[in-house]
Amino acid sequence: MRIDVMGVGFDSLTMDEAVARARDLMAERRAAYVVTPNPEIVMLCRDDPAAMQAVQGADLVLPDGIGVIYGAKILGTPLRAKLPGIDFASALMAQMGQEGKSVFLLGAKPGVAEEAGSRICTQYPNLVLCGTHDGYFDNEAPVVRAVSQAAPDLLFVCLGAPKQEKWMARWGALTGAKLAIGLGGALDVFAGN
Ligand code: UDP
Repeated sequence: MRIDVMGVGFDSLTMDEAVARARDLMAERRAAYVVTPNPEIVMLCRDDPAAMQAVQGADLVLPDGIGVIYGAKILGTPLRAKLPGIDFASALMAQMGQEGKSVFLLGAKPGVAEEAGSRICTQYPNLVLCGTHDGYFDNEAPVVRAVSQAAPDLLFVCLGAPKQEKWMARWGALTGAKLAIGLGGALDVFAGN
């Protein structure tokens, strides 16, 4: 059962539990996706039904930001832990890397995903970087095809909110990635910008 914070239902999990759930979703091979809303995204969903639908349709909804944690507490239904998207992605990559699994990085300005990828590969040497693409494109088809041909275990979708949530809801399954995660500005962070 999800915990409602101003209309958005959050999964109440520890980091270890969230990573375990993500791994289960990947094993199911049905193109699942994860969102990590912060308070700004919660507020934005209230005015954007398509964004709300994309967020609520996710297989995992993780609270990114102390504001969501406080909100849940004030409402009398506390969440177990704050799970920042970048920490969640890092914990997952650490495990995936040990198994030689692959990741595709989608989003940010041209060149950023490549730089993020190179740094990620240094940090998680056995993780396979199977592709990158910048986040500024008009035509979805070639991007979906590029991801699909790379057949990643993990797909990071970093197009900003709510674009990335809508993108995953609409295109996620067509990419064939086992698990997509919406991560906002994470590629800029991984790239050291
Ligand atoms: N971005 C993108 N395509 C777009 C708009 C944004 O790839 O059409 C990228 C942008 O370059 C940045 C990220 O999405 O890397 C959004 O970061 P921001 O910190 O603004 O998003 P948030 O984490 O607040 O959702």
